[in-house]
Amino acid sequence: MEKLSLSILSIIMLMACSSHPKEQKQEDKSVSSAEYAKSISVEELKAYLTEIASDKYQGRDTGEAGQKKAAEYLSSYYSKNEIGFGNGDSYLQKIPSSYFNNKYNDSENVLAFIEGSEKPEEIVVLSAHYDHVGVDDKGNVYNGADDNGSGTVALMEIAEAFNLAKNQGNGPKRSILILHVTGEEKGLLGSKFYSENPIYPLKNTVSDLNIDMIGRVDTNYGKKPKDKQEYIYLIGADRLSTELHKIAVTQNELFTNLNLDFSYNAEDEPMRLYYRSDHYNFAKNGIPSIFFFSGLHDDYHKPTDTTDKINFELLQKRSQLVFHIAWEVANRKDRLIVDGKVEE
Ligand SMILES: [Zn+2]
Repeated sequence: MEKLSLSILSIIMLMACSSHPKEQKQEDKSVSSAEYAKSISVEELKAYLTEIASDKYQGRDTGEAGQKKAAEYLSSYYSKNEIGFGNGDSYLQKIPSSYFNNKYNDSENVLAFIEGSEKPEEIVVLSAHYDHVGVDDKGNVYNGADDNGSGTVALMEIAEAFNLAKNQGNGPKRSILILHVTGEEKGLLGSKFYSENPIYPLKNTVSDLNIDMIGRVDTNYGKKPKDKQEYIYLIGADRLSTELHKIAVTQNELFTNLNLDFSYNAEDEPMRLYYRSDHYNFAKNGIPSIFFFSGLHDDYHKPTDTTDKINFELLQKRSQLVFHIAWEVANRKDRLIVDGKVEE
């Protein structure tokens, strides 16, 4: 019985597949982000995170050997995938030790670039810090799988998706800058350095979509039933551009159907998260930004923030949401309208 019904099913599916798409293709001129979001896969996210959150990278402490190894890993990934340099003929933006008042060794942001087809001078930044807090006195490695291995591998997959679109003639109209920043754990220093030494003028920077910890179910949602755990916190979306907020909501409704939780975006939110990740160095310069976050948990800033605790299906969906939003911001006819005020 099972076999029979399966084969009937597959005949029906074959018939459906062979007749429909051709007719549809001719009508449908604009390619949807859904086509490329598929390339953001659980398998690849898992493979990259297993690497970058392994002991080999020694907790990726700013200026230390493990962080530099991670920068090399990211650079070689972009090179292998033939994704463009973000800084002239290099993937690296060097930050001298003097910028850190010599408290840390020199360090580097890692940048990759996908040039826009129609408005290449307008830049959509996708950022995530790749540094973490290193190793403690007892030799425990802080792997930082969620913080922020999750955001790091999300960027790798989003870059691949945009690059695939570009290679098939469907690249974004505006340029995409993939920005892996260092020094976040030391006080948002890598993104601060970039904002003070931008490779692409800030006045041409349309938006920053920043990912910092999107791989877990936090303490709040952990108490809820499993079917209520498909969520993500969005912080900052409406502060500078109501249009950006609307895009986020619409893209989510169209493609990912996560529960968008804005509770950390409230102005009187005591944790003040809006000021506490790398997007703020863009937002303070009037650039509409969103901070994507899945919240805090018991392993936050502990050696137990490890890859085995990551929910990869959720990490995939959340990464896809960021991609869908970036796609819309990069492809819509007009640049995002800024209608909010910079907050200090
Ligand atoms: Zn952290």
